[in-house]
Amino acid sequence: MILPIVAYGHPNLRKKAVPITADFPDLKKLTADMFDTMYSSNGVGLAAPQINQSIRMIVIDTSPYSDDYPDAGNFKTVLINPQILSEEGEEWLFNEGCLSVPEIREDINRRPQIHITYYDENFSFQDKNFSGIIARVIQHEYDHLEGILFVDRLSSLKKMLLKRKLSDISKGNIKVKYKMIFPNQKKH
Ligand code: ZN
Repeated sequence: MILPIVAYGHPNLRKKAVPITADFPDLKKLTADMFDTMYSSNGVGLAAPQINQSIRMIVIDTSPYSDDYPDAGNFKTVLINPQILSEEGEEWLFNEGCLSVPEIREDINRRPQIHITYYDENFSFQDKNFSGIIARVIQHEYDHLEGILFVDRLSSLKKMLLKRKLSDISKGNIKVKYKMIFPNQKKH
């Protein structure tokens, strides 16, 4: 089932999401719904706060990047209660976008290597290192669990220049091909 994605300005995008346990109700269905929602909006990652659930859960499939980044080709995973333990290496720029912030893309600096622990979709514990584009997508989605959006990482000048556009997004004054919840939309 495809779920609506909450847009910039929604309070759930600003909360620190809470961990879940293995007996979380309908976890299998939620996982499938998150993948459906991500694929139908052509995303490579989706965090639960974006579908209005303030829990620590992420789905990722980086295969659309496989032409430019071969290791992205078969990385599809669910990350539950992830914890980034370290981020290392020299920061690199990548042009990021976000399903909750449509029509805006900006170059964002992040470190290329991460050490992360999480539970997979079967709730088995994972302890892994990722680098490059996979680390990048995880870092972006992980930020969502902390109430952080990629535009927060821009310079104050860039943020100022985007203010109007962001306000339009929160009001639903944009054309977008997937279903969204706009927090500041005027009722008809
Ligand atoms: Zn995002």
